[in-house]
Amino acid sequence: MEIKVKIEAVVNLKDGEVNINEILEAVEKWRNQVGLDVSKGLIETYQERMVELLCEGKGESSWVTHDHKEDGGGQLCTGGSFNRGGFRRKERTFRTSMGEISIKLRQIVCNVCGKRFAVLLPLLKISRRSRATVKIKQMSSETVAELSYRRSDERLESLAQINIPKTTLHRWTARQDWEVFTDRVNTEDVWQSFTGMMADGTGYKRQKADTTKGNLRIVMGVKDGPQKLVPLGVWVDKSWEEIEQKISGKKPADIKPPVLTVDGEKGQDRLSSLTDKVQRCQWHAPHQLKYFLWQDGVAKETRDEFIRQLSGIIKIEVPEKDYKEISDEMKKEIEDKVEKSRDAVNDLIKTFKNRGYDGACTYLENAVGHLFTVIDKWLEIGYMPPKTISILERTMREMGRRIKKIGASWKEKGLLAMAQILLARIYTPEAWEDYWADLLDLQGRCGISSYHVSFSAVSS
Ligand SMILES: [Zn+2]
Repeated sequence: MEIKVKIEAVVNLKDGEVNINEILEAVEKWRNQVGLDVSKGLIETYQERMVELLCEGKGESSWVTHDHKEDGGGQLCTGGSFNRGGFRRKERTFRTSMGEISIKLRQIVCNVCGKRFAVLLPLLKISRRSRATVKIKQMSSETVAELSYRRSDERLESLAQINIPKTTLHRWTARQDWEVFTDRVNTEDVWQSFTGMMADGTGYKRQKADTTKGNLRIVMGVKDGPQKLVPLGVWVDKSWEEIEQKISGKKPADIKPPVLTVDGEKGQDRLSSLTDKVQRCQWHAPHQLKYFLWQDGVAKETRDEFIRQLSGIIKIEVPEKDYKEISDEMKKEIEDKVEKSRDAVNDLIKTFKNRGYDGACTYLENAVGHLFTVIDKWLEIGYMPPKTISILERTMREMGRRIKKIGASWKEKGLLAMAQILLARIYTPEAWEDYWADLLDLQGRCGISSYHVSFSAVSS
């Protein structure tokens, strides 16, 4: 159908005095109100005309499919004959990106099953419980992941000209299934392309009464060199053991990326079943050793000397050029260097043992098997998985910053939703857009084909 819209406006300007800002300001204010009025008018006119068509027998039953009146089990009625059934007493209010629109709902009565129902929801594909449009849900979830709780409230108000209570915002985001974004990467192709994996976690403060610390953990696949991370999942208050089980249950069996790089947090070794080998983050190792030496009561100068030693030992450079062009002598040289470095770490362990630095000794004993994995792998497969988790740490810091702001007021589920949204937006922005495009389902079934604006000045 075609709906003709006529808009007539009277604009008052003060002769000789008005400035450009006043004109623009007036139009801007008006623009939103016009948008709301036109949308409301189009919806109501469309509703009216469709009811007319349906009741004259010129409509199609598929426009207003409804549950059969007598059948509680949700059997669809295919009746195609209707009578007018008056208006619903209560208007239906929709939250849209322009503001709120209230629509009087027209009802029809099905001549086959006798059901009386409002046509607008089936006609416009609006789900029964939904009070907000897809667009405003997208806006709110994007806002929620970017700002603190209270500020997201304010921000949404200014964007949408309406005030959405923070509890509503929270409910929308927490209820959605955001795992779709990490689940979709569990294909053979994606896992096959991983040159490594990374895992990291960060603590957060729980709601006021609870004094225990919660944790948020992330596992990533690494693709095409260390620059591209693919989120495999984010978890709130789950042990590494539970995380390992979750990933194993979803990933393609038999595919193991060559190396998992971790900072060595307790329990992380559970993840080793997901990959072939484990690498301790080469940035973290000296820092962690420093902490244990400090705990063992080692003086600062001595401590710094040992840290310098360890940093020097684990730093093994490999040639940048194509692996195939590297001579066998060169490879042998690097192999020897790894051997010597391993011996050097073992010497350090002995020194610590002799001096009674028990904490530092145990730490290095546990770490030594995972300090040179990436070099071994380079010799074996010709490319180097990431030596450190520094590119993931940047994301973790971002997460931590947001959690600090919202942590006190968000429950675990909201926190998880926020983290999932943030990951999806950072690492899979196309998938994020596609997800909303699917929900919006824009296919050009409504368009404004022409409009005309004319002006005439009248002296007052
Ligand atoms: Zn019916």
